[in-house]
Amino acid sequence: MRSKPAAIAALLALATVPVFSQSQTIRIHAATVLDGTGKVLRNATIVVQGSKITAIDTGSTTATPTYDLGALTVTPGLIDVHAHVGWHFDKDGRYAARRGDSSEEMLYSAENAYVTLMAGFTTIQSPGQANDVQLRDAVARGVLPGPRILTSIRQLNERSGTPDQIREQVRQLKKDGADVVKIFASASIRDGGKQTMTDAQLQAACGEANTLGMRTMVHAHSPESIKASVNAGCLQIEHGVFANDEVLKLMADKGVFFDPNVGVVLQNYLRNRVHYEGIGNYNAEGFAYMEKGVKINEEMIKKAVHTPKLMLVNGTDAVAGAHGHNADEIVERVRQGGQKQMDAVISATSLAARSMRLEKTIGTLAPGFEADLVALDGDPLSDITAVTRVAFVMKGGKVYKHVAPTALRTTH
Ligand SMILES: [Zn+2]
Repeated sequence: MRSKPAAIAALLALATVPVFSQSQTIRIHAATVLDGTGKVLRNATIVVQGSKITAIDTGSTTATPTYDLGALTVTPGLIDVHAHVGWHFDKDGRYAARRGDSSEEMLYSAENAYVTLMAGFTTIQSPGQANDVQLRDAVARGVLPGPRILTSIRQLNERSGTPDQIREQVRQLKKDGADVVKIFASASIRDGGKQTMTDAQLQAACGEANTLGMRTMVHAHSPESIKASVNAGCLQIEHGVFANDEVLKLMADKGVFFDPNVGVVLQNYLRNRVHYEGIGNYNAEGFAYMEKGVKINEEMIKKAVHTPKLMLVNGTDAVAGAHGHNADEIVERVRQGGQKQMDAVISATSLAARSMRLEKTIGTLAPGFEADLVALDGDPLSDITAVTRVAFVMKGGKVYKHVAPTALRTTH
């Protein structure tokens, strides 16, 4: 019989064997790698050290891969520039008002973060609620599984006050650690989508943000509200259900990012109607607007995709019920709008990263970038639905998911 100290020493030795130490080199081999900027690499090995990619080798190599992903297609970790990670249904199955002050809400947010990561999204931007900050920081500590999170913390709207008061609020957002300023320039689609903030309010919000070097994202449905936002110096437009040729061209000319949401959010509301109806503007009229919105979106995305130089970024507006289905947006833009598959991949990787000013860190597979990558069952260039079959997820050099493709085919 071993002495007690020896037994303890043996246990300690076992306990301290690292599964993957940060300095260990990880080699990931795949038949096809899309680098996120438009390049296709065949028979490639991505070399990862710590949180970063150090090399991508193509052709034959003698080193045995740590992960041989066979026929899967590797892309950068997917990015959703508009996901409401805190939105959830409560224990009664109803859409819950979020006060941002309960541990129960925090746990729902953490659950949403987890399912989003498992769907291949390694970065999201949440426009936004107060407890996003705690979630963002908790995920960044590296234990809680979730995507990198950027948040607006709060929103500005027509009730945010005078231009001076709005500028003050933008300065406060910066102090509070907001990653982006979220602005409501128009009403909800459920209320018709007309411009709500005055031009002066928009100029104050986006002008002050630009002065402080902060990014802006603007909820805007009507052409007038989009035009006013672009002319106020705002950097990104969300939704744009009623965007016409004139404002699509305006966004393209001014280099404003456009994030239409045609594949997830309205479909999710209609699918989950029973969980929302009877709360606020989730009434019969609101749902009628949303039903119409699906069809109007389909016409709009065709025009948007075919507007030269318009920078379309992938965002879903994922709300309660939609988390984990984020990739449907990528699929629907191709299916409804005729977007080229490669453009759809770029819009969810390097271009989305650029819209967040993170293009030197994420969204591209190349040496020096964070090792955020996913492997898809299928080739999205021939079948875009491959983006919904995520077999492998690595974020910051750490593997969070690795399943057999057959498991995806049976469960999806
Ligand atoms: Zn939203």
